[in-house]
Amino acid sequence: SIRIVGLNKVFPSPGGGSVHAVKDINLDIGAGKLVTLLGPSGCGKTTLLRMIAGFEEPSSGDLFFGERRMNEEPPNTRDTAMVFQSYAVFPHLNVFENVAFGLRLRHLPKAEIEAKVTRVLEQTGLEGYAKRSPNQLSGGQQQRVALARCIVMEPKVLLFDEPLSNLDAKLREQMRVEIRELQQRLGITSIYVTHDQVEAMSISDEIVIMKSGVVEQLGTPQEIYARPANRFVADFIGKANIVEARIAGKNTIEINGVSIGVPLVPELPAGAEVSAILRPEAIHLSAEGGQFRGIVRRVMFLGNIAEYLVEVDGLGNWLVDISNPAEAGLFQAGSQVFLEPSAGSIHILG
Ligand code: ADP
Ligand code: MG
Repeated sequence: SIRIVGLNKVFPSPGGGSVHAVKDINLDIGAGKLVTLLGPSGCGKTTLLRMIAGFEEPSSGDLFFGERRMNEEPPNTRDTAMVFQSYAVFPHLNVFENVAFGLRLRHLPKAEIEAKVTRVLEQTGLEGYAKRSPNQLSGGQQQRVALARCIVMEPKVLLFDEPLSNLDAKLREQMRVEIRELQQRLGITSIYVTHDQVEAMSISDEIVIMKSGVVEQLGTPQEIYARPANRFVADFIGKANIVEARIAGKNTIEINGVSIGVPLVPELPAGAEVSAILRPEAIHLSAEGGQFRGIVRRVMFLGNIAEYLVEVDGLGNWLVDISNPAEAGLFQAGSQVFLEPSAGSIHILG
């Protein structure tokens, strides 16, 4: 397991002054888990990952792998391996030699190298490619070679820094499934950096949402989606309608005069202003009858869902997703609709 305690990184900036890239981060990563650092570009994800790998020295705070304090440990004795966005394969070596490279540096016996490389090539779907040179491989295959080079070293911790950013959408989806399956099969503790929330949701045991060097929320994908800690998280993970509301009583809120019973309400006095997070897929649309009325301003047909932008009377624009539009029928732009948020899935922020 990995334990991060009060970790900070301050970079001197070229024009004088400094950049506080990572601010007082505390984190526990359980053995065998895949934890994702998710946040917009520049929020400190890579810096945190590089401190874990030992490429960057913390300005303050502590880093433990199990009981062992790692702060002063050089990268090569940390038992970590990092997969980068750029594939980091040697162009002049064939696939087999790329994967064998680290083992040869360790002077392992030939037969052992042969056996380990062969097994890892199988695990990463590269059997049959051993003799190929990297420039004869697709981007996805090159990234598999980079991954194979890491896992053949049997690291205790795998670190991924936006490994799929150079791949096209379809391949990215396929590769993230492969990475997750392999990670679970091998049980390697992994930290995965991405700015892509769908990627984070689909592969993680837990997600750490970061903004400006600070952890905004830590939780399972389900927890973070259902109960975002604040507006930033609500907006960053999935799509959210953030609607002004008031506390009307125990488990009741009021949106624009309409009372709605909700499962959880922060302990605030009646009348207190709060924000209600309404997810687009948890709003029912109909031609007649509903708590709110609006006009359809835009329709986007996306195949499995139709996404509507509805101007709601007195409440601004809401996004509404209707699954199975073939069955539900499509509302036209300009038509009047009624909206009914599913009360059970409304989340309140104080
Ligand atoms: P992310 O990976 O989330 O995009 P980074 O960790 O790369 O973010 O960067 C976080 C912040 O630290 C940014 O403001 C970046 O400009 C700054 N930074 C990163 N590395 C250095 C460095 N070596 N020197 C100075 N500033 C840096
Ligand atoms: Mg980065």
